[in-house]
Amino acid sequence: MKPKQILVFLIILTIGVGALYSQPVKKHGKLSVKGINLVDENNEVIMLQGVSYGWHNFWPRFYNKESVKWLRDDWACTVIRAAMGVEPNKGYISSPDWSKEKIEAVVNSAIENDIYIIIDWHSHHIKLEEAKIFFTEMAKKYGKYPHIIYEIYNEPERDTWQQVKDYSIEMIKTIRQYDPDNIILVGNPHWSQDVHIVADDPIEGFENIMYTLHFYADTHKQSLRERGDYALKKGIPLFVSESAGMLHTGDGPINIEEWQRWIDWMRANKVSWVSWSVSDKDETCSMLKQSAASEGGWTENDMKESGIKTRELLRKFAGK
Ligand code: MG
Repeated sequence: MKPKQILVFLIILTIGVGALYSQPVKKHGKLSVKGINLVDENNEVIMLQGVSYGWHNFWPRFYNKESVKWLRDDWACTVIRAAMGVEPNKGYISSPDWSKEKIEAVVNSAIENDIYIIIDWHSHHIKLEEAKIFFTEMAKKYGKYPHIIYEIYNEPERDTWQQVKDYSIEMIKTIRQYDPDNIILVGNPHWSQDVHIVADDPIEGFENIMYTLHFYADTHKQSLRERGDYALKKGIPLFVSESAGMLHTGDGPINIEEWQRWIDWMRANKVSWVSWSVSDKDETCSMLKQSAASEGGWTENDMKESGIKTRELLRKFAGK
């Protein structure tokens, strides 16, 4: 090839790799679970990384098409999470149509922008009948898209594992009527921290199920990682669908060292993680300031420490 041809070739190659990079679903396709790992359609182990929107009923303004694209392009997210508040005001139970509209704006944009999207039933209590109606609708509508991941119960507070397990089996059966294969994330007691109990009594008979492990690094430290180790050793696939660096209240200073220990642990175990949250409340875990536009385009002046740090971590692992 002549130098000019080589140059053109290199430019096309760079654009091609760049496009693939920012189009994770085109690159990895349909996901499944193999042993304790999430694998892509080529059977390669894949680790998704990204952010969760805050409760849609408290921060509806960020639930739009443009913010998804920004999180993909600037934050290098390969997955995002739409946290549909089930209660209280303006949650799914009181405003189902408006709630679905918000969630679907983000889901549709994730499909259009080619990133994975978690549809999260953001609740602390079992609401079986309502959840069945919602996930039936979601599975019918979105089950054919490889982008979709279902999270059927964010954080049980007071339910026992037996109660959560019974609920989860009902929900898995409900989703599987219309979607035979997409990943389903299952929560567990005490804000999705009892993975050691799950490990001794897992759900049997279904494929492409993973269990969630949530941490707030200044509260949950080595002892929770040890529960994670125990679960992984017993063959339980884990997905950190919610996490952050401060106290479990979402407030207080960020504990960078402990957060980094979690990041190292997740990377060593190829556990996917999602950081909480895209919202603008006056609290440490809200990643944005009130000056931040609803549609993205955020500068460092629009982001709080947790946003700056999360973006930095995501970009670093993406090689940006
Ligand atoms: Mg499917």
